[in-house]
Amino acid sequence: MGNENAPQAPGEGQARPFTCPECGKTFVALKGMMGHRSGVHGRKTGINATLQDIRDELRALQEALVGLEQATTKRHVIEERYASLAQEVAHKPRCMPSPDQERELRLLERVLKP
Ligand SMILES: [Zn+2]
Repeated sequence: MGNENAPQAPGEGQARPFTCPECGKTFVALKGMMGHRSGVHGRKTGINATLQDIRDELRALQEALVGLEQATTKRHVIEERYASLAQEVAHKPRCMPSPDQERELRLLERVLKP
């Protein structure tokens, strides 16, 4: 389709300050380097990396929720899950809790309150 991702002709005297950490290829613009990394090496960078983290987190949470549903009569399991989720969120200073983490925390709080 478009050729935004086509390799740029090597510019004479043009600074290429962005170096791909995987293969050493240099780029004029950070955006080009990021596109190359994700396209060629399958590496997520910037917001995509954050989104990937959140997706991984969500998958883990979904699995945890299934386990939680199976153990709703076991209060200590719920308390443990709540504690570990709260800890997970607290230990991610660079990452805001995702809406699903918030939702699960609220849900667990509701379950734990008499
Ligand atoms: Zn590369």
